[in-house]
Amino acid sequence: MNQNLYLQFFDNFQRNPGKILLDTAEGKQYSYAEVLATARRLAGVLKSLGVAPGDRVAVQVDKSPEAVMLYLACLQMGGVYLPLNTAYTGEEIAYFLGDAEPRLYVCRPQAMAEAGELARHSGVPCVESLGTAADGSLMTMAARTQAYLPVAEVEADALAAILYTSGTTGRSKGAMLSHGNLASNSRVLTEAWQFSAEDHLLHALPIFHTHGLFVACNIILTAGASMTFLPRLDAEQLIELMPRATVLMGVPTFYTRLLQSPRLNREAVAGMRLFISGSAPLPAETHDEFRTRTGHAILERYGMTETNMNSSNPYHGERRAGTVGLPLPGTEIRITDRASGAELPRGETGMVELRGPNVFRGYWRMPEKTRAEFRDDGFFITGDLGVIDQDGYLHIVGRDKDLVISGGYNVYPKEVEQLIDELPGVLESAVIGVPHPDLGEGVTAVVVAMGGAVPDEAQILAALHGRLARYKQPKRVFFVDTLPRNVMGKVQKKQLRETYAQAYS
Ligand code: ATP
Ligand code: MG
Repeated sequence: MNQNLYLQFFDNFQRNPGKILLDTAEGKQYSYAEVLATARRLAGVLKSLGVAPGDRVAVQVDKSPEAVMLYLACLQMGGVYLPLNTAYTGEEIAYFLGDAEPRLYVCRPQAMAEAGELARHSGVPCVESLGTAADGSLMTMAARTQAYLPVAEVEADALAAILYTSGTTGRSKGAMLSHGNLASNSRVLTEAWQFSAEDHLLHALPIFHTHGLFVACNIILTAGASMTFLPRLDAEQLIELMPRATVLMGVPTFYTRLLQSPRLNREAVAGMRLFISGSAPLPAETHDEFRTRTGHAILERYGMTETNMNSSNPYHGERRAGTVGLPLPGTEIRITDRASGAELPRGETGMVELRGPNVFRGYWRMPEKTRAEFRDDGFFITGDLGVIDQDGYLHIVGRDKDLVISGGYNVYPKEVEQLIDELPGVLESAVIGVPHPDLGEGVTAVVVAMGGAVPDEAQILAALHGRLARYKQPKRVFFVDTLPRNVMGKVQKKQLRETYAQAYS
């Protein structure tokens, strides 16, 4: 049987063709039938450009409904969709084009000249463009191309996408995701979060990342639901649109920004059934404050580019603040000793490893890296540190690469950050390890003050004194206006470590 992910969506296009699948804040609407018709014409364009099953289609375009249609066309043709962060510069794009060797590179209309250069340099045969106003060369070609109907026959293992990781800990890696990976995860999530055709999602995430593309769009297409596409996070706009919606998916920044609006209250969220958070840790205080203000317990889940979603707090049952919930059906999660790989009992902190139909096929053209990140029994070593509590809830305590080893002792940044964040006058903090002449690494805190009576370094150090073992106490505290974050709300600790590299030298 054909395992193409496209077929998982297909019934919804047939069942209710007049239904609106996608709309925008400006009031543009696209029915299921319209999306299908354009996607099929785009498939015809891909065919004419020689995109064959297995060929990569690299895409760096601004978020638009047409970009989703291009994604669908690519799946239909058996191509490998390869979206790129819109923030990447020409130099970075050159690396990705060289690495991925796509058949086709789709850029923004205004980037055509530069893209042509890059493509020639990297030996990419076709360059086309796609804009946010249904413009660009691809749409011009689509307008005069016949709909292409056949759906490429693929195995579950065939690649559907290569998605580059966020580059939080180092250079981005291309994760190879199969039709089977994506199809199974979106089915599991649709069920776990009880999505139906009645749902309407507020979509303000980028669509070059697993959260906005696979979690959000694939669920909507699997459930036959609908969504409003917004170019970026605007808390006031989200609140305005909530009466038309049922679900919001966001990164933690969405929720901290919503809480800053005095308009966020029970009445504003009356029609909403679910708020989901992921991609970075949601502070427990944000969870609690949101619940007090709105009556909704934000549902936090945990995933990665490489694995899709792994765990989720329950739809029914306790959504536990500061945890990422229970393994999703079909996914096994275990905690192991970082060094030996031996499985640890519940309650002990170690490496999070997982296995399941959601786990990727490996890193694109990095066979050694791929081998190094998998155990012999098929478990993927995530690089995240965590602990499973007595009720089975997974707590992510940080990344292995952010673990601070000071004087030979392991310091988990989150434990220190949580205590600092509770101090009066502190908004948030990041704890990092930087080179230290005696200790190897010195525990170092970077703090954002709340404004008003701002604590100083000595006060923070004094406050932590009796509360943390000496080796966990920061040696220095630095103050900043904001923590460096990427668009997915991830704190860029690598950047902080560079900034404070000389703190003890
Ligand atoms: P790179 O792998 O290139 O360093 P990255 O890991 O940030 O970048 P992504 O795949 O976008 O790239 O992010 C996955 C990571 O995000 C997870 O490994 C985990 O560290 C973090 N993450 C995702 N959801 C949560 C969550 N709910 N709580 C804590 N961390 C989370
Ligand atoms: Mg990662």
